[in-house]
Amino acid sequence: MSILASRLSRIKPSPTLAVTQKARELKAAGRDVIGLGAGEPDFDTPDSIKEAAIGAIRAGDTKYTNVDGTPALKKAICAKFRRENGLTYTPEQITVGTGGKQVLYNALMATLNPGDEVIIPAPYWVSYPDMVELAEGTPVSIACPAEQGFKLRAADLEAAITPKTKWLILNSPSNPSGAAYTFEEMKAITDVLVRHPHVWVMSDDMYEHLLYDGLSFCTPAQVEPALYDRTLTVNGVSKAYAMTGWRIGYAGGPKELIKAIGVIQSQSTSNPASISQAAAVEALNGPQDFIAERAEVFRQRRDLVVSMLNQATGISCPKPEGAFYVYPSCAGTIGKTTPDGKVIGTDEDFVTALLEAEGVAVVQGSAFGLAPHFRISYATSTEELEEACRRIQRFCAGLRG
Ligand code: PLP
Repeated sequence: MSILASRLSRIKPSPTLAVTQKARELKAAGRDVIGLGAGEPDFDTPDSIKEAAIGAIRAGDTKYTNVDGTPALKKAICAKFRRENGLTYTPEQITVGTGGKQVLYNALMATLNPGDEVIIPAPYWVSYPDMVELAEGTPVSIACPAEQGFKLRAADLEAAITPKTKWLILNSPSNPSGAAYTFEEMKAITDVLVRHPHVWVMSDDMYEHLLYDGLSFCTPAQVEPALYDRTLTVNGVSKAYAMTGWRIGYAGGPKELIKAIGVIQSQSTSNPASISQAAAVEALNGPQDFIAERAEVFRQRRDLVVSMLNQATGISCPKPEGAFYVYPSCAGTIGKTTPDGKVIGTDEDFVTALLEAEGVAVVQGSAFGLAPHFRISYATSTEELEEACRRIQRFCAGLRG
């Protein structure tokens, strides 16, 4: 008899973390590996934020805090939602967790009964379906192919809604595709939701500040105020402030839901680290100029990667609106053979052969629910990106058949 619970058979370890680890292991073994799997900015946390954390340690802010966030951080989050999103939340409508990941997980644990359906447009962030499964819900994926800009169409959403639908999870700009909804595109989606009052929307706005070419960010509760009472607006400091290791995420939403999320947290991890919370206050209240400067660097890298990948035989790479990912198709390589005789049958074969032949670590599209694609994170140095794209070009040029 195994010690392991049956719920474990429903999920798999995060494939993106697995690729990052594999790349690290190969590097440690002396291989020349470029890892393009990780979903974190290569920039450092700004000094003013680090100083706030050091100040908090010195001031003795080293004890338990309120489970769902300090009053100071909740106040900063309320101000952020008002300032940047035109959304009014009171502190009782705010919850803070150990990363946006914990907030999303707790929200699903707090709301899903067995068999409840959660609509997830694909390609999706790898954790959504597994979190839904852990919470005993049923993920319902809707394919959103490159031809529609990797975006959900209103008619497809309408067709997927059943009496059992509890949530739609929206993520714009998206991990892994980088796709971002315009106000009008988002409105088409929220119009559908207005007609289905039993469906709630979980908006994962983690990449809000990484939008290019003059596009403006929008989030469902702002686009359609009628949805305010059934929207959970999730955000965090990981991506915008280069604070992935600090583990602070948060959400605004209806009081009853926010309270329930806090109850789950109170019986599992309690409060997020007190020092990280103090750092997040400085992140949200302090200078914001570096965000746009860094976004401009990301835009330049996006343009470089898209251009170089489109010069690789068999690869087709759309230009995404945001985040720091591209999601090219490798359909043109399927059925071909590597110089050492391996047939590329799937995108997983493609990424495995690419890692073995050229030491470039990327993640297969099947992990994100839309194949045959692969995801590249361009949150790495321009030099490394250029070298990685050259290697991908060489790898593709060497395929036969
Ligand atoms: N949502 C999306 C779409 C992400 O890509 C990530 C991180 O990769 C998260 C949420 C979670 O971020 P964190 O837990 O660091 O706040």
